[in-house]
Amino acid sequence: MIEITKAISEDGIPCQDSDLHYAHEEVRKYKTILKAALDQSTVGVAIADAPSGKLHYVNDAGLCIRGEDRESIVNGVGIDQYVSNLQIRDFDGRPLSSEEVPLIRAIRYGETCRKEVVISRGDGDNRIVIANASPIRDEAGTVLAGIVFYTDMTERRQAERYKDLARDVLQILNEPGKLTDSVRHVLSVMKSKMEFDAVGLRLQEGEDFPYLVQDGFSIDFLRKENSLNGRAADGGICRDNNGAICLECTCGLVISGMIDARNPLFTAGGSFWTNDSLPFLESPPAADPRLHPRNECIHHGYASIALVPIRSKDKIIGLIQFNDRHKGRFTSETIELLEGIASHIGAALMRKLAEEHQARLEAQLHQAQKMESVGRLAGGVAHDFNNKLTIILGQAQLILLDLEKNHPHYANIESIRLAAEQSASLTRQLLAFARKEIITPKVLDLSITVQGMVKMLQHLIGEDVKLAYHPMPNLWPVKMDEAQIDQILANLCVNARDAIKNVGTICIKIDNHVVDTDFCARHKELVPGDYLRLVVNDDGCGMDKETQKQIFEPFFTTKGIGEGTGLGLATVYGIVKQNNGFIDVISEPGVGTTFLIYLPRYVGDSHLTQTKGAIGALPRGREVILLVEDEPEILKMVSAILKGLGYTVLATHSPAEAMHIASEYADNIDLLLTDVVMPEMNGHDLVSYLLISNPQLKHLFMSGYTSDIIARHNVLDDGIHFICKPFQMSDLAFKLRDILDGQAIP
Ligand code: ADP
Ligand code: MG
Repeated sequence: MIEITKAISEDGIPCQDSDLHYAHEEVRKYKTILKAALDQSTVGVAIADAPSGKLHYVNDAGLCIRGEDRESIVNGVGIDQYVSNLQIRDFDGRPLSSEEVPLIRAIRYGETCRKEVVISRGDGDNRIVIANASPIRDEAGTVLAGIVFYTDMTERRQAERYKDLARDVLQILNEPGKLTDSVRHVLSVMKSKMEFDAVGLRLQEGEDFPYLVQDGFSIDFLRKENSLNGRAADGGICRDNNGAICLECTCGLVISGMIDARNPLFTAGGSFWTNDSLPFLESPPAADPRLHPRNECIHHGYASIALVPIRSKDKIIGLIQFNDRHKGRFTSETIELLEGIASHIGAALMRKLAEEHQARLEAQLHQAQKMESVGRLAGGVAHDFNNKLTIILGQAQLILLDLEKNHPHYANIESIRLAAEQSASLTRQLLAFARKEIITPKVLDLSITVQGMVKMLQHLIGEDVKLAYHPMPNLWPVKMDEAQIDQILANLCVNARDAIKNVGTICIKIDNHVVDTDFCARHKELVPGDYLRLVVNDDGCGMDKETQKQIFEPFFTTKGIGEGTGLGLATVYGIVKQNNGFIDVISEPGVGTTFLIYLPRYVGDSHLTQTKGAIGALPRGREVILLVEDEPEILKMVSAILKGLGYTVLATHSPAEAMHIASEYADNIDLLLTDVVMPEMNGHDLVSYLLISNPQLKHLFMSGYTSDIIARHNVLDDGIHFICKPFQMSDLAFKLRDILDGQAIP
């Protein structure tokens, strides 16, 4: 090498001497060999003069790594310019100072230096490169030049990164947590590690495939692209001949699995990928592989796009989308890797969905158990409470009968009566919630029942709120207590009114609804079948998810003290459950609320027994009534009421004595009015005993609390008359006449 250096003058002109000529030939030969070797090396090579740093040689591989042509760099720029042009960075993206660049260190300090760097090319592509630089010295040791060998590590490092990525993704998916949180985490890791501009995951929701999570897409893009459903000119959803919804664009194509395997844009795994989407804009429709293209990705400048389907077993349930504005972001290896990751995500999705489903069911069960115990407590309290209320209410009513309206105490007693009545309605609600309310179900056409309530409901909600009522024709019958429908609608409408600040609309709809197994899978308490669906919708303030979780709990209220009891929806819940129905709520803050109540269709004798008693003046009577009640205060009070209504009363606190009286008076007793739960003998057994000697004996049970004595699962047996304590005097008066006159419908 030293000799060669001698044989060539500085300007490269060979010496005339024959030895030198020979040497020159040798030099030329070696130079040619060396140049050919360097030129053909797959490792990039560059040589720069010292100390100017001017590049005087770069081989093809080097040019390729740098992404520039030879003319623009060789002999062109000095060392500092060379560095800044090249944009050499470290792995955090920080530009290297010229002191850190291996070739410069070789030239300036004579160091042999190795470093892994990132070269940002003019076309925006980044190459990961190992640069090995050495000085070239003359015999005196002076640095003449520096040589650098670049090895392009991009693909290898990327493969390593992808392998790490796949491992990270698996780890995230295996961590416990909510499905959406895991998927969001996975996407953000993929986006940052693979440096994509935007990533998204679409998941089936009904018949559409909106983004479950996404990262990087603009609001405008999402607004246009979120739904894949094709729409007709009139805004309606397009369906194919089989009734399936048409999905649009390339996403729709991949999800539908309608790919053309011969087309190189698709993989055997069903993915679509392109490194340059722009030419699609020019494609004639016949050559365009996409389905009803929307071109939104192209309009948003995404050149590289990959759409990888997510499968659950053999079904495509969604896809993962990778978008980048740079061209050429994918290779078939990258897509293969992404398909592998998508299959992990598919498996994790199914597992997490199943876990969430299970957790939801457990929460529902837990909630049901909680409601059950609150209900038992409420039912227990209601028993004693109702007995006391019966006395308060009855006595107040009796005093009022004797008082002139202008009596100084009339108003006081009236307010006692009113308070007792309000308390009675509270216990009734508690009992309803606890499903302990004794009911008398009848076969009803709900359209007629509700129609009869519209006026009362409109009155209840006031004039500013409009009430619309839409029953579907030919509704299936249900078997329910009319008073319970009343309670449901009154509670829902009052809540809706409270949710509507000023003016608004409450809409009541009723339709027939078939509940399928899919729906039941999500709502454990339901069984598939025919249901009548009662829907109450309002355009009020709506509720957030947290509130929705608690609304059916007794005493949960968001209203101020004195404004809400928190029993309205608990009552509705109890009533719906008592009738083997199901209640659902859909609500959005600021938009409104919809309650959906599913009541089982009544199949059987559909003889409708709808009635609504008209209230007139209190009917009286002169018949003989045997009254049995173990609570002395109630006995006294009911006896006084009966006497006040004109009846002759034989009153006793003991069933044994009642049997004795009955044998004495025999056929002269017209009706037995008896409590149900008594210490000696229950009311039902007493009636059974008395019926033996007097099979025609008319009888009426009164009770503040249900028991299975007269009602199986709180439903009264046919032919049984019942009045709930505490009762209004008028209720008792009418009920007695109905039974005694033989018109009562139990
Ligand atoms: P209350 O009406 O006494 O508060 P409810 O059991 O009837 O008790 O209702 C419980 C809570 O549910 C209400 O306080 C309110 O926050 C919420 N809620 C019920 N219905 C609606 C509705 N239609 N719109 C908005 N919020 C409602
Ligand atoms: Mg309420």
